[in-house]
Amino acid sequence: MNSKIAKALEIVKIIEDAGGRAHIVGGAVRDTLLGRPIEDVDLATSFTPHKISKLFSKVVPIGIEHGTVLIRYDSESYEITTYRTEEGYNDFRHPDQVEFVRSVEQDLARRDFTINAMALNGEGHLIDPYGGQEDLVKGLIRAVGDAKERFSEDPLRMMRALRFSSQLGFSLDKYISDAISYQASLLSKISIERIAVEFEKLCKGQEYKAVLLHLEKLKVHHYLPLFKENSEQIKVIPSVRLQGFSELIPFYCEKGSPYEISEWIKAWKQSNLVKRNSLIIYEAVHSYDHKPLPEVIYPVPSHLIESLVNVLQAIDVNIEHSYVQEVYDKLPIHSRKQLDFKAEDLMKEYPSQTKGPWIGDFLNKIEKAVVLELIPNENQAIKEWIKTWNPPETD
Ligand code: ATP
Ligand code: MG
Repeated sequence: MNSKIAKALEIVKIIEDAGGRAHIVGGAVRDTLLGRPIEDVDLATSFTPHKISKLFSKVVPIGIEHGTVLIRYDSESYEITTYRTEEGYNDFRHPDQVEFVRSVEQDLARRDFTINAMALNGEGHLIDPYGGQEDLVKGLIRAVGDAKERFSEDPLRMMRALRFSSQLGFSLDKYISDAISYQASLLSKISIERIAVEFEKLCKGQEYKAVLLHLEKLKVHHYLPLFKENSEQIKVIPSVRLQGFSELIPFYCEKGSPYEISEWIKAWKQSNLVKRNSLIIYEAVHSYDHKPLPEVIYPVPSHLIESLVNVLQAIDVNIEHSYVQEVYDKLPIHSRKQLDFKAEDLMKEYPSQTKGPWIGDFLNKIEKAVVLELIPNENQAIKEWIKTWNPPETD
């Protein structure tokens, strides 16, 4: 048994010994049955957050009003939520009311899909009131209850259905597909940030190609930023899986998006970090076909090399990660700081020149020559090399 599940069952035991009931629920149950790696283990319990807080020493109240606390147990984190139902979703985001209930079965009823609505008890026995296990075998995403109703309660579930379909390679059942094409427009009620999380997960999923096509057929893209304004864009599908917006944005920009990176960032409410990374990757991808590889990859920080290769492969460049990594590791320098020639050295060579932008321009030229191995990164050799230049012009 997976060690995280085994530890979670210890938590269940602690709660049961104190007179409560608890179950492992949601994604961890699904992924265990599928034999897939487990992300997080969530638990549901009959105890209130207050009681749970008394039972464990390290507790973070992350969503008390919804009955959720986070506990640290044996150096792992677990979310524990009191059994509850949800009623009314007037703001399409949070249930207006959550009501604590007595049984795990009642709790499972609020969950989105049958494969996510199973629970494991302390003895490892499966509670599966909606036929989730059968749907796992069939490879089917099916709503708990009436799909239309469940999607109008929380329209984000439509995006979740698509992303699970991509992650697991499962089909959407007919009711789900019909419900999405019938009321995809409700997605406009959902915050872009939440849609963005699901869209990223969808694009990272094994079946992203088929699911992006399906998404287009169901006209979901009419409710996705920038795809709704330029609906052809959704048909432009990356040739490999892309890992998040830092890769997706440079991909779409390179593949003819009429929007600039900053517009993508704004429309999809992405962070400044994603913006910075997108700009670096785009710049490199865009220069790939007219610059030598060392010059393309030199400005890219090492942690973005993998993303750069992903985007290149996504636009059908035939290139391998290992090759680019090798070229990167062999670059004579990785930053201006490592250049064995400073601004002062340059000024010494041209004592009569006043300071000015020429210094930066010349250092760029030297840096590029070193990166391309036209000259070695040695002070003396660089000095010799610049002697072959014409003296810089002054104003
Ligand atoms: P992942 O591996 O991506 O974490 P997950 O199934 O654990 O998948 P979460 O978003 O972490 O997904 O949610 C945990 C569980 O909570 C789900 O399995 C599902 O039972 C329930 N859930 C989450 N979001 C919703 C929702 N919008 N509507 C109904 N139930 C939901
Ligand atoms: Mg989860």
